Amino acid sequence: MPLKAVAVLEPGYADYRVEQAVLAPLGADIVAIGKDDDAVSSLRDLDPVAILVRERTVSAAEIEACPSLRLVMRYGVGVDNVDMDAAKGRGIYVANVPDYGAEHEVSDHAVALYLALQRRVVSRDRAVRNANWGSGSEERIPGREGAILGLIGFGRIGAEAARKFGVFGFAETLVVDPYADTQLLAERGMRQVSIDDVCRKADVISLHTPLLPETRHIINADRLAMMKPTTILINVSRGGLIDEMALAEALRERRLFGAGIDVFEQEPVDPDHPLLSAPNTVLSDHIAWYSERSTKTLQTRAAEEVARVLNGEQPKNWRNKWSGDAGPSVP
Ligand code: NAD
Repeated sequence: MPLKAVAVLEPGYADYRVEQAVLAPLGADIVAIGKDDDAVSSLRDLDPVAILVRERTVSAAEIEACPSLRLVMRYGVGVDNVDMDAAKGRGIYVANVPDYGAEHEVSDHAVALYLALQRRVVSRDRAVRNANWGSGSEERIPGREGAILGLIGFGRIGAEAARKFGVFGFAETLVVDPYADTQLLAERGMRQVSIDDVCRKADVISLHTPLLPETRHIINADRLAMMKPTTILINVSRGGLIDEMALAEALRERRLFGAGIDVFEQEPVDPDHPLLSAPNTVLSDHIAWYSERSTKTLQTRAAEEVARVLNGEQPKNWRNKWSGDAGPSVP
């Protein structure tokens, strides 16, 4: 059987043995295209049947460079980094892995960022190492009795975050999600409100919505201005949900208590980005999804989607659906 190439754009996992084991029996070979390669010309030379990608963008030009391409496979949930229309225009599937169990890791991370900020874990750690024993007087820590939690997005991760934040005794949980099951929310004692209401009332706001045209900069300067100076904002979803410059300014001017940020509009984040020097800001490098368990499941499920398409089936989690038939068949 002739080898079909499956391209991994800017590989980032320790190895690709999981994918190789699933795809080799189908005559497919995994080929890495590195960060320093010219992606368009490498893809043109390789002409892969599938592209596997993590956070890096996949542009129309890269899709156009691959005449045999059948699938762009996103390792993870968000597909905002793939030019969906360019793929759809050519009848190329875009699929993701929404069910690799990342809701456990990502919701843990949201809570970890909240606690780090609320309890000043990072700054007190630095202070102790610098022999700066401030013990209660050095930095403000407001109490959170009777505090209100706000969740923007109540899907897999938002619901799991609600469950975990629940142990901190928030007086109320306000939810913004136009598609959430209102009956389920009511059963769990939660309330749907407008995003402006969440910004005005919540003491802790955690973002769990996808990045879509309508959610880009959903937290902008006007909404930051509505927040209380004691509010903590957590973003483990997508950087583009927040106007980062406006957030850095609000933090600098102490109009917001703190921000926990795992995701940035541009990744890796620029070392001069103003959020890196903003006060009471705890940052991580888009790692909320990660654990050894979640990575293995993610790599396996992504490879299984490629296998489905190579076998002439539709991907299970097909994201750029077009009307009509099942799309292209595999030559
Ligand atoms: P999901 O699809 O289960 O939930 C998303 C929720 O957002 C849905 O309930 C949807 O109704 C809601 N939503 C859509 N438009 C909205 C809007 N305008 N306002 C409010 N809510 C809206 O997805 P999920 O698995 O919970 O993941 C959520 C996001 O988390 C992903 O899209 C991804 O961007 C991000 N994510 C980040 C990491 C990480 O490592 N940081 C890992 C996985 C996922």
